[in-house]
Amino acid sequence: MTAEQILVIDAGTTSTRAMLFAVDGTSLGSEQCELRQSYPRPGWVEHDPEEIWRSSLACARKMVAQAGGAEGIAAIGITNQRETVVFWSRRTGEALGPAIVWQDRRTAAYCARLKDEGHEPALQAKTGLLLDPYFSATKIAWALENMEAVAAAGDDLCIGTVESWLVFRLTGGLHISDATNASRTALMDIHKGRWDEGLLDLFEVPRGTLPEIADCAGRYGETSLFGAPIPLCGMAGDQQAAAIGQACLAPGETKATYGTGAFVLTHTGDEAPLSHHRLLTTVAWQLEGKRAYAREGSVFVAGSLIQWLRDELGLIRTAAESEELARSVADSGGVMLVPALTGLGAPHWAPDARAALSGLSFATGRAHIVRAALEAQAHQTHDLMRAFAGDGAEWRCLKVDGGMVANDWLAQDLADVLDLEVERPKFVETTAVGAAMLAGVGAGLFGSLEEAAVMRGAVERFVPDMAPEVRDARLAGWREAVGKVLR
Ligand code: ADP
Repeated sequence: MTAEQILVIDAGTTSTRAMLFAVDGTSLGSEQCELRQSYPRPGWVEHDPEEIWRSSLACARKMVAQAGGAEGIAAIGITNQRETVVFWSRRTGEALGPAIVWQDRRTAAYCARLKDEGHEPALQAKTGLLLDPYFSATKIAWALENMEAVAAAGDDLCIGTVESWLVFRLTGGLHISDATNASRTALMDIHKGRWDEGLLDLFEVPRGTLPEIADCAGRYGETSLFGAPIPLCGMAGDQQAAAIGQACLAPGETKATYGTGAFVLTHTGDEAPLSHHRLLTTVAWQLEGKRAYAREGSVFVAGSLIQWLRDELGLIRTAAESEELARSVADSGGVMLVPALTGLGAPHWAPDARAALSGLSFATGRAHIVRAALEAQAHQTHDLMRAFAGDGAEWRCLKVDGGMVANDWLAQDLADVLDLEVERPKFVETTAVGAAMLAGVGAGLFGSLEEAAVMRGAVERFVPDMAPEVRDARLAGWREAVGKVLR
């Protein structure tokens, strides 16, 4: 048998998946396990690293069986929830406590203190990030001080983001991270591609606990857990993988992923321009030691708003029902929803802001509220578009993906409000496609990412069709509503 299938492990926030691809991008199968979320205190979010590992392995095993055995697989690609940190023993490989998840806000006061002390400008200049609990560094500092087993581990301690944890387990001891994931820790100098001594000192992180920073494609090592050895050949954080899967390979090309949160990345080539509008600068990929960069806008609440309408308010039975309800009314009837349920991310960065539902009257029905929730996605994206434009990055087209854009109404509303063509691939699992493209390049199945982009497949287009006065009125209403939340 010739090994020509690519296996992707996608360790996400709400689920862990494995997917199998043919080299032409055809999806040959997928397997998924839900991931338990724990919220031990307000603002804290944790995962069990052993569960992440067990479910990754179980899903991957199913796909290996589907491929007809390990011999049928040319390479493994890994993509993952970013910023989340795992602590484990180098000797036993066992986790030393819970993973602290990207959404966790336990270090908010610590971040505020560092900001007051004036550390943000230097941190931004080196890492492209801001001082926010979102990034790994303050979570690591917290664990080194407060998690007993982590504090006591000494030389036995390994720290890594989720892809590092999976690689360590898959290979039985290789401790590496790819440059995209490393760029989200707030410990890496993104211009030099290495851990920054000054930041390691600031957060008191011992260098020896951290992984080596590697390219996003190459032959890192092999796993022998599936019968025959399979090489690990590709790695990238989920949003970078999605940008690659959407073939955002030239400067200016932009993608937006609408999953739990919404994440917009614009490719900036080999330049790493710092933002003046509170956007992030991040590594898009690193190949043969050379980095490409992207600007990023991260919005914390997108699809989770629809989940909240379903699970907490009981306004809808399924996420898909939101589309039908939005279409059932001519507009939101003046209702505005600002989804700041965990504060506002880019470009506002207001961790203490809280959500607001306004403009209600006796004429308001559930369809208006659900429509307002969907409309909020275009409004939030419009704020990002203005921030990107302020930084000199004008969008020419928006390539969308993620669970929410299965909703045609939402995809059209994005085109209408942004006044921009929106492009949606027929196969929306672009994160997995991006990881498969990287693994294909790493395994030598493709000569370049451009060549690997055949895996993206066909796309559908949504063209703007909204009267300017309707758009202006919507955006004016939104600006007023956000202004109240930020006050
Ligand atoms: P993640 O990868 O972040 O776990 P996904 O990309 O799988 O998320 O997207 C799931 C999210 O999309 C959920 O929050 C869900 O509420 C939302 N969603 C799924 N289908 C629809 C739909 N038809 N309309 C609106 N939102 C949807």
